[in-house]
Amino acid sequence: MTDPRPLVRSLSAPRSSVERVLAQFRALRRRLRERARALALVAIVFTVLWFAGGLSGALALTSFLLMAMVVAGREPAESDGEKERSPDVEPRRRGGSGGGNDREGESWRLIVDAVPDATVALDHNFNIIHFNARLEELFPNIRVGQPLSQLSRHPELNAAVERAVTANQQVVVDLYERVPVERRLSATISRIGGREIRRGLPFLIACFRDLTEQDKLAQMRADFIANASHELRTPLASLRGFVETLQGPARDDPEARARFLAIMSSQANRMTRLIDDLLSLSRAEMRVHLPPRGIVDLNEVASYVAQALDPVAASSKAKIAVTKAEGPVRIRGDRDEIVQVLQNLVHNAIKYGREGGRIEIAISRVLDGSPPRPRVLLAVADDGQGIAPEHLPRLTERFYRANAQASREKGGTGLGLAIVKHIVLRHRGELRISSTLGKGSTFSILFDEVGNRS
Ligand code: ADP
Repeated sequence: MTDPRPLVRSLSAPRSSVERVLAQFRALRRRLRERARALALVAIVFTVLWFAGGLSGALALTSFLLMAMVVAGREPAESDGEKERSPDVEPRRRGGSGGGNDREGESWRLIVDAVPDATVALDHNFNIIHFNARLEELFPNIRVGQPLSQLSRHPELNAAVERAVTANQQVVVDLYERVPVERRLSATISRIGGREIRRGLPFLIACFRDLTEQDKLAQMRADFIANASHELRTPLASLRGFVETLQGPARDDPEARARFLAIMSSQANRMTRLIDDLLSLSRAEMRVHLPPRGIVDLNEVASYVAQALDPVAASSKAKIAVTKAEGPVRIRGDRDEIVQVLQNLVHNAIKYGREGGRIEIAISRVLDGSPPRPRVLLAVADDGQGIAPEHLPRLTERFYRANAQASREKGGTGLGLAIVKHIVLRHRGELRISSTLGKGSTFSILFDEVGNRS
């Protein structure tokens, strides 16, 4: 059998252990201080009695020594705070020191508690004798005394346990669960007990890791790469086709050449837009955890974007109107990013709005939330075709389009709202989308105003 000690040593997380040692040291210091205070009090009482002549010197000294021995041996009452911090009180619910030598019992429990993964200790009958808080998060109904099969009915888990016991080696197994939620767990089973049965001491340790989130992220990354290459491949294939045509059958056809070159130019522009948006998205994702340091006036940004996109709106006979709030409306932000957010929203309002329609950019101060608190609202509304309700929750996903054909025809990349979402996240804002089919859509963002912290 392998020596269990190295495993136990490697399981103890240093940070929690240091905290526990410090807590024990603080409790010891408090106890010593209490005892010193009690001894001083006893000394004063007997000195007073001796001076007052109530006791002879020898009797006072003997009584003092006897009282001192009693005080030194007394276990001081723990304060509530101390009880809360004391590491040997908390794990009772997850299994007390049921046997073995007390010191040994406590230390292995502390090690299980300190493991960062969900961990359970089992006895030689595969019954649960202790588990940590992370395990309780994964299996909320878990109780000490239950058999391992109660944790998961997976035959693979039982087989892994058998293997860990008979082959005396660490066994790792993946468990796919469908109910109550779909998830993938990785379980690592290690036998740490020997042949001799020692009651109350762990025989097996099982650690669980929830890999569901990790799987989802990997899937999203793979989907993103597949989508990005698909979006690039389409215009590239079209470009290659036109180049071949121009080199071959249309070589001496000036009319066809002019037509094909115009299409090639629009395909090249599409690829450029896609690459620009991919770069913007990756920049926005990278900076999402860095709070912006600058100050941006939303009124000023609204005027700037309305002016910049006026010619684009005019090409579909639409009008952009701006309604500002009083005075400067200052938020903590990165001006270029806030400009990009507003540009994407107004550009969408133009693309999916009505020909000859009206686009409104409105800045206002509102009371929002419960309890209500003052915030600033930046809203972009159009009177276009609107969006069906089933699409609303997914609009900010990368490459998600309510109507892929319409988006491509209008030069969309499917990344505009994903960029908006990440920039808004970085600015600790909140994006809300509302829409009525046939009437139009409103994209609103709530921010905190600088200087208004109530
Ligand atoms: P795209 O480049 O396709 O416009 P976006 O991420 O900006 O990508 O938008 C995602 C999808 O949301 C669009 O394809 C479109 O279907 C829908 N959408 C966005 N804004 C509007 C709007 N103002 N009106 C109607 N649909 C919209």
